[in-house]
Amino acid sequence: MTKTIFITGTSAGIGKATAKLFAKRGWKVIATMRRPQNETELSLLSNVTLLPLDVTNLDQIKETTQKALAMGNIDVVFNNAGYALFGALEAMTDEQIVAQMETNFLGVVRVTQAFIPYFRERRTGLFITTGSSAGLMGFPVSSMYNASKWALEGWSESLSYELNEVGVGIKTIEPGLVATEIVDRSVVVSHPAYENLANKFSALLTYGEDTTSAEQIAEVVYGAATDGTNTLRYVCGEDAKTLYAQRLANGDEAFIAGMRQMLEAN
Ligand code: NAP
Repeated sequence: MTKTIFITGTSAGIGKATAKLFAKRGWKVIATMRRPQNETELSLLSNVTLLPLDVTNLDQIKETTQKALAMGNIDVVFNNAGYALFGALEAMTDEQIVAQMETNFLGVVRVTQAFIPYFRERRTGLFITTGSSAGLMGFPVSSMYNASKWALEGWSESLSYELNEVGVGIKTIEPGLVATEIVDRSVVVSHPAYENLANKFSALLTYGEDTTSAEQIAEVVYGAATDGTNTLRYVCGEDAKTLYAQRLANGDEAFIAGMRQMLEAN
């Protein structure tokens, strides 16, 4: 039987690549985005349905969830929408801080909550979330992005116990650096006291030919959706795998000292 995935944030990057991959593999895809009227690529695919969804809009979450469920069974919900707020906390407005958490954390919480009763009644279903290596390790001048992604980690791990109790799964995809438009779309604040640190850190974030692509992450999402395991975390991209392995092997304090050394060397 044809399976269906519901995805948030499909106008670009990982969400769009995932929508295309699942459609190519014969799934029905409900691709949600803030402005579906602007979409020119996914709208051409016959097994993709576009629905409007801004994950910070609770009424729209309820409305779009109901519309999606009225279209037939849904097997996987992929919470992917997000953006990055970078820079020193001191330079951020309260509005920017709240907006980061509303999108990256509460957006995922609210979409998940909207689908749980449906999955629980069917005693099946899977939630997949795009976390980040920034949810497993703290990086400089990224405190609110880190906070939003780190919150998802504790939330997912805790939620796995209650969801598993009713036959439902939850998994998190943890990419490192991925070649998408996220940096161009991110909100960057600056403050002279932290410019030096911000410059040193951004010098570490280099994109090259071997940077993980959105398509590679989409393959990981596909694997997570179909491997039949109850694995919680999928650390993906060579950079993320190496860094996280170092963190686990050497411990938090040694990792932080290593990060300081890398920054000093720049
Ligand atoms: P992207 O190319 O900028 O795509 C982000 C997507 O999220 C866009 O479709 C954007 O839609 C959508 N979005 C943002 N705010 C939204 C909202 N309030 N409601 C609904 N959709 C919203 O970036 P990406 O790299 O693919 O990011 C996807 C996810 O991967 C994010 O959660 C990000 O944190 C995570 N991630 C990215 C990287 C990386 O290096 N790229 C690494 C680890 C994790 P609009 O077109 O409407 O803005």
